[in-house]
Amino acid sequence: MKPRDAAWFKLRRRHLAIYPECRACDSLADPCVHHLTYRGGKRGEKERPGDVMTLCRGCHDDLHRDFAQTGEAPRSKRLHHFTIEWVETRQAQIAAIENPAM
Ligand SMILES: [Zn+2]
Ligand SMILES: [Zn+2]
Repeated sequence: MKPRDAAWFKLRRRHLAIYPECRACDSLADPCVHHLTYRGGKRGEKERPGDVMTLCRGCHDDLHRDFAQTGEAPRSKRLHHFTIEWVETRQAQIAAIENPAM
């Protein structure tokens, strides 16, 4: 294993130990560690814990599909901003379904 891969697996494992659930829908199934910055290269080997976010497979796929529809590259710098807004929108949608009176 290359050093940068080892660093990424370590960051990924530590992140999932602290944040096992999907940030958007709270699912614990099939977690992905989504990059917000890709700091330090294509595997994000210089990323810090705040540079990644746990998303379940379903939310992660939806996020990247929606981002691709904006015409952005998958690793665009705009992904950070897009991700935060996308997650907040999905959280609000889920809250509205769970609490229809609000
Ligand atoms: Zn991602
Ligand atoms: Zn999810």
